Amino acid sequence: MPLEGFDQANTEMTSPSTSVTRCCIVGGGPAGMMLGYLLARAGVPVVVLEKHADFLRDFRGDTVHPSTLQVLEEIGLLGKFNRLPQRKVDHLGVRIGDRLQPVIDFRGLKPFNYLSLVPQWDFLDLLADEGRRYPHFGLRMCHEAVGLIEAGGRVTGVRVRSPEGEVMVKADVVVACDGRHSTLCEAAGMTRRDYGAPMDVLWFRLPRKDTDPEETFAIVGSGHMMVLLNRTEYWQAAYVVPKGSDETLRAQPIDTLRDSVAKLAPFLADFIRELASWDNVKTLVVRVDRLEHWYRPGLLLIGDAAHAMSPIGGVGINLAIQDAVAAANALAPALRERKLIDDALLRQVQHRRLPPTRFIQVLQVQIQKRLITKALAQSGEPPNVPAILRWLLQFRVVRNIPARLIGYGFRAEHVRTGENLQQA
Ligand SMILES: Cc1cc2nc3c(=O)[nH]c(=O)nc-3n(C[C@H](O)[C@H](O)[C@H](O)COP(=O)(O)OP(=O)(O)OC[C@H]3O[C@@H](n4cnc5c(N)ncnc54)[C@H](O)[C@@H]3O)c2cc1C
Repeated sequence: MPLEGFDQANTEMTSPSTSVTRCCIVGGGPAGMMLGYLLARAGVPVVVLEKHADFLRDFRGDTVHPSTLQVLEEIGLLGKFNRLPQRKVDHLGVRIGDRLQPVIDFRGLKPFNYLSLVPQWDFLDLLADEGRRYPHFGLRMCHEAVGLIEAGGRVTGVRVRSPEGEVMVKADVVVACDGRHSTLCEAAGMTRRDYGAPMDVLWFRLPRKDTDPEETFAIVGSGHMMVLLNRTEYWQAAYVVPKGSDETLRAQPIDTLRDSVAKLAPFLADFIRELASWDNVKTLVVRVDRLEHWYRPGLLLIGDAAHAMSPIGGVGINLAIQDAVAAANALAPALRERKLIDDALLRQVQHRRLPPTRFIQVLQVQIQKRLITKALAQSGEPPNVPAILRWLLQFRVVRNIPARLIGYGFRAEHVRTGENLQQA
């Protein structure tokens, strides 16, 4: 239900091609949809622009960690989230040769002792449907931000390619949630620091049989490694390859990949021909980078737009959600009261979210250097887990440590914006 004087997307129409709102969010991924939902719930007119027609894109991250489950509980959406098709995972291991080494264990952690594997589009649809319950929520699909509008050194809106042609959305603040290839980051001329990654990831599905292992786990072989996510009917496979080798691999017949996968996980051999061609394989170019400054006057960047994460630990969605909660906590009161969104407020978000982001990125870079680079360079026998580590990992309390680090991170964000149905 749009507000009086506002269009369907709750923007005030100042001309047929220009609309005005309080907060314009660019990108309807986890960061943008959660921020849009939280602001609308707090009574702030908000517009989320998403360039695609729907959320139904394959090959997106699907791991919803305890930190996100906690946020969902705080906003009263956990019940509805639990009704989405999902698989709960409470421990993870690494298979080396015939041996499955337990490494990560959520059991015993509170308040959530598992992570959920949920198709990301279902999660985003849930946030969109719930957002639409609030009169201040506007979601415009097929709207691609193509540039910034600036006045007096401040970002005042975005130029948008839409089905109706180019339009402008003006706002008190623009939040870029447009992912790791952020158009707005580039338009604002902001620089990213690259921390490097030795690998890329080939992402594909294979059918799963009832007799296959139940676990979600990593497999390390000689010079190869792969993560298999149990999605009940199918395996979501993430096959790790040396950085930049994608083109050379794709020049070879698909059998090269099939053989290597079947060697790593012999139980997949029966259905390996279902991997029909390279068209079924998506390459995730792994990047670990971060903006030095996450804001400029009138503009804030969060989620992957501010920091691309390595896939290690599957933390990308969850950090994006934590950023969104921190941004909503900082911005909602000022937006509701129509106060100027000054740099001090935007800086608050960066100060809050930079330490946990940096901490996880440092961990990821160390794991990349010390484990993944070595595993990919290994020839002959697969690597061994040192005996002392094997001994330590037999204790659940030790396996709880990595589970807590990736599941909850540190500095958990709690939703401080209440529900407010009054017009701002
Ligand atoms: C193959 C793959 C597997 C992954 N696996 C996992 C995993 O298992 N677990 C995990 O936690 N993370 C995973 N990730 C990372 C995770 O998906 C991201 O970290 C997370 O989605 C970031 O959320 P975000 O909202 O910041 O950005 P995104 O999810 O990238 O969302 C950005 C949105 O902005 C839209 N957009 C982009 N440009 C514009 C524009 N100019 N105008 C309007 N809209 C625009 C895009 O269409 C998109 O919907 C994976 C990523 C990939 C690519």
